[in-house]
Amino acid sequence: MDNQPHVLIFPLPAQGHITPMLNLAQLFCQANFQVTFLITSHSLERLTLYTDTKTRFAGYSGFRLEPIPNVLSWKQWTGSHNDDVMQWITESVLGLAVDAKPVLERLLKGCDVSCLIVDGYLRFAYDCANEIGIPAISFRCPSACSVWTYFCVPNLVQLGEVPFQDEDMDKLVQNVPGMNTFLRNRDLPSFCRVKDKTTCLGLEQAFAAEIERSSQAYGLILNTFEDLEGPVLSLLRSKCPRVYSIGPQHSHLKHNSSSSLQEVDQCCLSWLDKKPMESVIYVGFGSSTILKRDQMIEIWEGLVQSNKYFLWVIRSDLVNGGENDLPTPVGLLEGTNARGCIVSWAPQEAVLAHPAVGGFLTHSGWNSTLESISAGVPMLCWPYFTDQQVNSRYVGEVWKIGLDMKDQCDRNVVAEMVNDVLDGKKNELKESMARMSEAAKRSVTQGGSSYCNLDRLIHDIKMMSTKGAD
Ligand code: UDP
Repeated sequence: MDNQPHVLIFPLPAQGHITPMLNLAQLFCQANFQVTFLITSHSLERLTLYTDTKTRFAGYSGFRLEPIPNVLSWKQWTGSHNDDVMQWITESVLGLAVDAKPVLERLLKGCDVSCLIVDGYLRFAYDCANEIGIPAISFRCPSACSVWTYFCVPNLVQLGEVPFQDEDMDKLVQNVPGMNTFLRNRDLPSFCRVKDKTTCLGLEQAFAAEIERSSQAYGLILNTFEDLEGPVLSLLRSKCPRVYSIGPQHSHLKHNSSSSLQEVDQCCLSWLDKKPMESVIYVGFGSSTILKRDQMIEIWEGLVQSNKYFLWVIRSDLVNGGENDLPTPVGLLEGTNARGCIVSWAPQEAVLAHPAVGGFLTHSGWNSTLESISAGVPMLCWPYFTDQQVNSRYVGEVWKIGLDMKDQCDRNVVAEMVNDVLDGKKNELKESMARMSEAAKRSVTQGGSSYCNLDRLIHDIKMMSTKGAD
């Protein structure tokens, strides 16, 4: 077909990035675009093994998965190195910049590409498109509120707020515009908890370059919606020329397909079928959180002590290093037999949509947060790293759709807060969550903000393919 736009999509090879970008790929296919999706051989293998990606895209002849060389996955990295996520991202990006760049260049030069949709972390890919003269649109997987705090990092370093001047983690942060009445030191992205000046200078430089790139990119796509993050989106619009807030992306699609890079254990759904309405707390910390053994035991004790039903995703690599093999206290096993169900990977969206689920103990990853909002399930937040500290503050303090348990890992606190979410504070949380969930649905229906922004994005890319970007 003449002038059919051809979009190249390039995510960071991690679950929380592949899922929303694959959803975006499907939305473009539905708009009759040709889509090439770059993916490491390792992730491709897992997608083929564990998902219906092949049948999901079978009806779209213009869709292609393009394999690129592997970099160390997060699981391999934490197994052999450490759990410093910024270091893993840096190494992965460096690896891709060497090994995947030739594939990217070949595609950009020889395949009549209208535009590159590139993960915000893959700076080299953005530069590559720029050199070749192809418009690049940055896709940011985290929330708008956390992206805004990233943009403020250079200022925070220059004005002396990072590294923190004292140990007071509850001190309000002054130099993140729009957030100075509620954002505390402990709510800044986890990488701001550094102590030494050299690391801070590295952060300052990296994020200053980031702001520059974002302001030069054709646009910025965010998986969020105006009723949720309108004020922060306005702030971002002052730095970036076109901001397309099109989330929750998965809600645009009629049938949700899994993009899981691990085998999904469906047995928990029949376990849920036998439980009363809103009686279960679902516990899931996403694909990357790593717990220390004592944290795991505290959370587990708290769940058992809460006397509530719990469904917990314990990935094979959830607990740090060799500590996984230590025997589990007998009391916990008995408590779990009585009220718990443990799986290694759950069909999360189906679990959240199940009537038996009344709350979600989450690490506040952005996909999980949006999935919880879409399903109308209040959250209990225990953030692990990067954007999650900001997200959980918004959940607890701004949107009031959950509680923030940040920086506490104590069995009594866990038990008490699980009870608050499922009982004591249930009504107030459910009420504000129901309002937000409705707003999320409205945003993706015809005439809603995300519906219109997606339309605008599709229109703008079509214009690129007919007459080039402005
Ligand atoms: N997920 C899942 N089953 C699980 C745990 C997670 O399907 O047992 C999915 C979840 O639905 C979400 C993604 O994995 O789409 C996790 O993304 P998020 O941004 O929440 O966290 P990350 O893994 O990036 O830390």
